[in-house]
Amino acid sequence: MSSGINKSLADIPIKVIGSAAKNGAAKYRWKRRAVQITFLALLVIIPVSGLFRVDPENGALVVLGWQIWLADFFLISGLWITLACAMIALYSVAGTVFCGWACPQNTVAEWANHMTRKFLGKRAEVSLNGEATIVSAAKNKALNWFLLGISFLGAAMFFALIPLLYFYPPDVVLSFIIGRTDARLAGSLYWIYTVWVMMILLDIAMLRHFWCRFACVYKVWQHTFKTKETLHVRYDASRSDECAKCNYCVTTCFIDLDPRKTEMYDSCINCGDCIDACNSLQAKKGGVGLLSFEFGQRVEGKSRKIRDNTISLLSRFHWTAPFAALGIVMFAWGMWSYQPYHLSVGYLQSTNNLSTREYRIEISSKRYRPTELSMTVEGLPQDDFNLSTQKIQLSSVGRTSAFISMSPKLQRGLHPFVVVVRSNDGWTGRFNVQHFVE
Ligand code: SF4
Ligand code: SF4
Repeated sequence: MSSGINKSLADIPIKVIGSAAKNGAAKYRWKRRAVQITFLALLVIIPVSGLFRVDPENGALVVLGWQIWLADFFLISGLWITLACAMIALYSVAGTVFCGWACPQNTVAEWANHMTRKFLGKRAEVSLNGEATIVSAAKNKALNWFLLGISFLGAAMFFALIPLLYFYPPDVVLSFIIGRTDARLAGSLYWIYTVWVMMILLDIAMLRHFWCRFACVYKVWQHTFKTKETLHVRYDASRSDECAKCNYCVTTCFIDLDPRKTEMYDSCINCGDCIDACNSLQAKKGGVGLLSFEFGQRVEGKSRKIRDNTISLLSRFHWTAPFAALGIVMFAWGMWSYQPYHLSVGYLQSTNNLSTREYRIEISSKRYRPTELSMTVEGLPQDDFNLSTQKIQLSSVGRTSAFISMSPKLQRGLHPFVVVVRSNDGWTGRFNVQHFVE
């Protein structure tokens, strides 16, 4: 008897509907989280690894342990032109996707929303959107507020350290964190850091997406490159009857948009959360969502052909492509002609007697490691000059001087010579000097 019941039960078809994540409906959320975390990690890794930082003491940029001076014009300009063209291409194709997928401000704001709901209830709202604060009665406890405040303060203290990594080497930032005495730390740094912490705390606790919607200048800049073909959320209006009594996508959008009515210049950041939300809802009924990402003009009921959209988008690149090519060429030339040391020779101002004139040799190193340099003078007999030193040691970036004293016994006329400096890593610098005796 019981085996017959079991067989009957086993014959009933069962359709298993998993969570949104498991059934693949949340296809954007986890990818987005991975990109956001990677971008935050890169923000720390880039300066700590030495890939890029600013050296305010010497007024230079530092790339992979080498100083880049403003005089390295082609390197800097070429890189900026290339990056700017790449950014314009990104804005034209994918709109404000940077905001939704990488911007630390949005990442932190989303995290703050998550923590607020965790400690103050699922519908908790504490922000600057003009509405009253909403807190779950069951969670409105001093301990929850305290834990939320501590987590916000901890995050603000951490994020305020990241800018320091771009202006100081990691060991100096470590000295700052543990309170170790370090001559390289500016005395006012603790005040600057405190102001940063306060600003980030205000942002995390109150501003969040209010900043993204109403104050972010960078978003306005990205908007200027959008076209009608730029990536946006598409709503399948032909199935609008399925939206009756549903506004799940609207409640999901943390920018407070109605994803069914996105416009060309609205605040949508192409995060894809609304698409995941509708997909997960429809997946429970065995269907697909009404929202999707789309390139191309918004046309009621149908999409333009991919070919038409691609042609329209590519037309934007007609004027950026030559600039991008120029930037790449300038950057390549800058890399090829980069000089890790700088050599110059000039008269010493203090000497009035031209016959016994002295020259100052200035050598600058752009390397953040010890270097040994050797110096020679070519084109003059040894008795006609006196070189103050032939070997120079530099422990890191910086400059040093050597001197050449010309012999007072030199004949009248022109005495050209060359100052040659060689580094132990293979660099050779030559400076031509025309010494004239009246
Ligand atoms: S979640 Fe989907 S079904 Fe619900 S309102 Fe939005 S688009 Fe319509
Ligand atoms: S409308 Fe959708 S894609 Fe745009 S910001 Fe809102 S949730 Fe993200």
